[in-house]
Amino acid sequence: MELLDRYIEQNASGCIGHLRELIRFPSVAGEPQAGMPFGRDVNACLTRALEIAKELGFTVKNLDGYCGYAEYGEGEEYVAVLGHLDVVPEGEGWRHPPYAAEMEDSRIYGRGTTDDKGPIVAALYGLKAIRDAGLPFRRKVRIIFGCNEESGCGDMPYYMSHEKPPVYGFTPDAEFPAIYSEKGALFLEITKDINLQKIKSVTGGVAPNSVPATCRALLDMEYTEVSSRLDAFVKETGVKITCEKTDAGVLLYSEGHAAHGSKPELGRNAVMQMLGFLEKLQDIELINFLNVHIGMDSNGAGLGLAMPDEAGDLTLNVGMIEAANGRLKLTLDIRYPGKYHEKDVLDRLQKAFLEQGVTIHTKLAMPAVYFPKDHFLIRTLMGVYEKFTGRKEEPLAIGGGTYAKYVPNLVAFGPLLPDRDDLNHMANEYIEAKELLLLTKIYGAAIYALAN
Ligand SMILES: [Zn+2]
Repeated sequence: MELLDRYIEQNASGCIGHLRELIRFPSVAGEPQAGMPFGRDVNACLTRALEIAKELGFTVKNLDGYCGYAEYGEGEEYVAVLGHLDVVPEGEGWRHPPYAAEMEDSRIYGRGTTDDKGPIVAALYGLKAIRDAGLPFRRKVRIIFGCNEESGCGDMPYYMSHEKPPVYGFTPDAEFPAIYSEKGALFLEITKDINLQKIKSVTGGVAPNSVPATCRALLDMEYTEVSSRLDAFVKETGVKITCEKTDAGVLLYSEGHAAHGSKPELGRNAVMQMLGFLEKLQDIELINFLNVHIGMDSNGAGLGLAMPDEAGDLTLNVGMIEAANGRLKLTLDIRYPGKYHEKDVLDRLQKAFLEQGVTIHTKLAMPAVYFPKDHFLIRTLMGVYEKFTGRKEEPLAIGGGTYAKYVPNLVAFGPLLPDRDDLNHMANEYIEAKELLLLTKIYGAAIYALAN
C-alpha cells in the first residue's frame, strides 16, 4: 500500500485546496426552497462538492438537493463512505473567521473542518488515489455527500427510498477506532388525566435529552404546613428544594444538576426530586408509582428495563414534566444497548405501566446499531486503524448517534484520533494539514479493503 500512500502524498495540496473551498460555504440549514430542501447555502455547497468530484474524474449524481454522490467502479454492489456537508451555526469566540478557511501553523481553521467536510474530502481523495494507482476494485465505491446530518438526518430516508443500500461502508463522523455499537434512543411522552388535588401546576425541564436542572410547583395549600414538611424532608434527604409564599399560592423550587440525556447518571434530576417531596403532601397514585419505580435512578430497573451490556447499560432520563388542569405529562429519553430493539423496551414499559392507565406515545425513535466485534466490517476497519496508528485497541460503543442509524451496513469510523481535542460544534474548529493527509491514507486504505 506504499503505492497508495505515494499517490495520496502527491495530491495533498489539491486535497487542502478543495477542502478550503468547501469550508467557505456557510452551509447551515436554511429555509427550504424549490430543489433546495435544506436551504440555499447547503445546496450551494453540495453543488460545488459534486463539481469538484466531477473535475476529479468521478461520475456524480445529485438526489434532488437532499444529498449527492461521487462514484467509481463497476457492478451492482457498492461500498459507501457517508459524510455530510451541512454544518452547525458558527457561534461566538472564533480567532479566525469561521468561513474563511484561513491557514496558520499548517492548521486550516473553519466550521466543518473536522465535522464533516475534512473527512469527506479525505475520503474523496483516498478514492482518487486508488483509481490513479491503477489498483483493482471488486465493488463500486460511492462517496455520499449528506446534507442534513446536523438537523434531523432528513436526507437519508430520501436516499434510501431512491437507492439500494451499500454492502459495506463507514461514516467518518465520530471518532476512531470503529464504533461497533450505538445505543438506540426513544423519546416518549407519558400522559394521564388525573386529579392533581391541591397541586395547581408542576413544570420542569427544557428538552427530553437533558437532565432537568430546575422544577417548579405551585400549591393551593397553607404556607406554614408546606414549609414545615419541607424542612423535615430536606433534613432527611439533603435535596435542594425551597418554598415561598406568592399571590398565586405556595411556590416550590427544586434545584438539580443538568447533564446530557444520554448520561443521566452524571446529573441530578430536579423533576424527580420534586415528585419525591410532592408525595409527602398529596396522595396521588401515579406520583407515588413514579417515585417507587423511577425515583432518582437512571437505569430503568424499577420499570423492568434493566438492560446491562458491556457496551453500556440502558439509561432513562425523565427530561420534562408538565402537570396542570387535571393532566400530567412526562417526557422520557431512554437509550438502550445496541443488541436490543425498540420493541423490547416498549413491551416492558407497557407492562410496567399497565395498572396506571397512562398513554405512552413515541415522539422520536432512533434505532440502535450493532455489529459483532469479529464482523468483517469491524475487523477490516480495526486492521486499517492499527496499521496507520500502531495502536491495538478495542472497537468503541457510544450512546449518541450517527448516520449509521439510517443506512444499513455502515459503522462510524473516525475522524477524531485519540488525544485529539474535539472542537466539533465549538469555536476555532480546525484540522492539521498532516492530520488531513493521515485521514486520506486511512480512508483510502479502508475503502480499498472494503471494495476488494
Ligand atoms: Zn458530523
